Amino acid sequence: MGYMDLDLDTLRWTGVKERTFIAVKPDGVQRKRVGEIVQRFEKKGFKLVGFKLLKASKDLLREHYWEHRNRPFYNRLVTYMSSGPVVAMVWQGQDVVKTGRDMMGKTNPIDSMPGTFRGDFCVEMGRNVIHGSDSVESAQREISLWFKESELCDREVCSNNWIYD
Ligand code: ADP
Repeated sequence: MGYMDLDLDTLRWTGVKERTFIAVKPDGVQRKRVGEIVQRFEKKGFKLVGFKLLKASKDLLREHYWEHRNRPFYNRLVTYMSSGPVVAMVWQGQDVVKTGRDMMGKTNPIDSMPGTFRGDFCVEMGRNVIHGSDSVESAQREISLWFKESELCDREVCSNNWIYD
């Protein structure tokens, strides 16, 4: 998607208003990693603006992973992601997309450093615990796929002056 295709909402999503879509995958939920994942985003200084536990439909997941539709692992991925509830979240803050990706580690846990979610919590790509948007554009697409506008709660946070210069 080019810059000109972005709508006004996306253009507003800059600086401290940047948002990303993070999901704790079914294995992460089953293995009780939700609390620690939420805690690390909170500790970092990001703001939680959307949160829900749901069993995603295969249609939603096929749409979510549309870019991988021709890859050999696509069907397995959709089956894995629909095998149990996921925790879908929206986090907001400066550079949250890139920082969220850094906190996650690489797609393959074997390439992920200790200290990252994938580096600490898992061993295989097909059970890699967490999803995070890879760009501001994908974040907007994914957030609008998983959340209604009315499910997102922006608000003033009193600690902002202690997080941002
Ligand atoms: P990321 O989740 O790090 O953004 P991708 O968008 O490339 O990675 O892939 C989406 C998800 O598909 C991965 O998180 C992983 O669960 C799964 N996946 C990717 N590549 C493979 C693969 N070669 N074999 C099995 N699963 C894969």
